[in-house]
Amino acid sequence: MNMKRIVVIGAGFAGLNFAKNFSPAPDQEIILVDRRNHHLFQPLLYQVATAGLSPADISMPIRSFFRNEEKIKVILDEVVGIEPNKNQIQFKNSVLTYDVLVLACGANHSYFAHPEWEIYAPGLKSLEQATEIRRRVLSAFEEAEKISNPVLQREWMTFVIVGAGPTGVELAGAIAELSRNTIRNDFRNIDPAKSKVILVEAGARVLATFDPALSETAKKNLVNLGVEVRLNTRVTAMDEKSVTTDHASFFSRTKIWAAGVKPSITGKFLKDADADIELDSSGRVRITAELNLKKYPNVFVLGDQSHFPESSGRGLPGVATVAIQQGHHAAKNVARFLKREKLLPFSYFDKGTMATIGRKKAVLQSGKLKMTGFPAWLAWLLVHIYYLIGFRNRVLVLLQWFWSYLTFSRGARLITESDWKLKD
Ligand SMILES: Cc1cc2nc3c(=O)[nH]c(=O)nc-3n(C[C@H](O)[C@H](O)[C@H](O)COP(=O)(O)OP(=O)(O)OC[C@H]3O[C@@H](n4cnc5c(N)ncnc54)[C@H](O)[C@@H]3O)c2cc1C
Repeated sequence: MNMKRIVVIGAGFAGLNFAKNFSPAPDQEIILVDRRNHHLFQPLLYQVATAGLSPADISMPIRSFFRNEEKIKVILDEVVGIEPNKNQIQFKNSVLTYDVLVLACGANHSYFAHPEWEIYAPGLKSLEQATEIRRRVLSAFEEAEKISNPVLQREWMTFVIVGAGPTGVELAGAIAELSRNTIRNDFRNIDPAKSKVILVEAGARVLATFDPALSETAKKNLVNLGVEVRLNTRVTAMDEKSVTTDHASFFSRTKIWAAGVKPSITGKFLKDADADIELDSSGRVRITAELNLKKYPNVFVLGDQSHFPESSGRGLPGVATVAIQQGHHAAKNVARFLKREKLLPFSYFDKGTMATIGRKKAVLQSGKLKMTGFPAWLAWLLVHIYYLIGFRNRVLVLLQWFWSYLTFSRGARLITESDWKLKD
């Protein structure tokens, strides 16, 4: 039998949902490739970075999803080139041909033309980065405890988070709570509650994509937790011990980057192979309303790395719900493509957005509905538990949250050497 091969690159929200929803016909097979062996629930990465959860609570081996799916083969490898005119993908040591390609490699951090800052201020996209941030945050208190010079102590006990989108806000709130509650009585030489958490944002408000009233509430919640919120402030320089902005400089040993994103480099591989393939100004691949490429209808590009044509011209936001819905829709369209049927246009159903601030506050916006405080936090918790992959993870995370809600504890306060390194 002449097997048709569907190759999916990336087992994030888009690629995984594609593979889970596509039912291969007898003459079709799926090869799912990822450079990591696990699917990662990125929305809870900040909990790993701030010692609330352990890495295994928010990730799951990709193979385990497809244990019983004979026609789905999982490969651990990294794509280093794509030749759409030859239907070929290149890995470091091999080449794979496809009949249909589903590209869903997500996004990485952008340091706005300052890649040298990454070493001082890691971003939060992977488990390696989350455990590196956890190491830096917890080690900062340990270093401060060992010294008596108050100036140096302040340097170690100042945490700067750059970018006040949901990730920056969640990190700032969690670090403030860690220092003011969880570890408050654990040290003898320092008072962790006196540490400074500074949230720096170039724009005029936190959570800029939310309704202005919700941004204001979130800012107040942060300030109440002890976070210093600096708006309209742009980072201009950074080194191991300090951050300089256009208004002031701070001595700080621990910086975290939550400011910009850039799409996966695999979009550029397509463009390098064929100049007719269009990328937008940020590098996202421009796709059709049916989620594939105009010139190569057998190539579908999904999730954070694609630019979907919609009325605002900005493309859809880089959120999990877009990636999940596109994964489902692409499963239908790839089946239709292989049967030579007309493809169906994708339309996004916006279920709303939310961000949590500390242990029991959140803001939520869904259509006309706006919610703040504890009810929003409860909704945030339920949605995250619902979408978290795997029954074991759901039960464990729910129990841990319940426990830390009662006790303020953060049980994963482990300083481990991380294997984080700079890479695309
Ligand atoms: C800290 C954080 C918090 C977030 N919070 C929320 C939230 O609360 N709500 C929300 O809706 N969204 C949130 N998001 C955004 C959401 O996680 C993304 O929109 C979503 O993950 C995009 O899905 P994707 O499938 O496009 O990419 P990803 O989920 O990033 O998956 C891409 C996959 O491709 C693989 N890959 C990349 N390059 C290669 C290569 N060259 N070769 C092989 N494999 C490769 C990666 O290993 C990865 O598994 C958050 C993101 C982050 C980082």
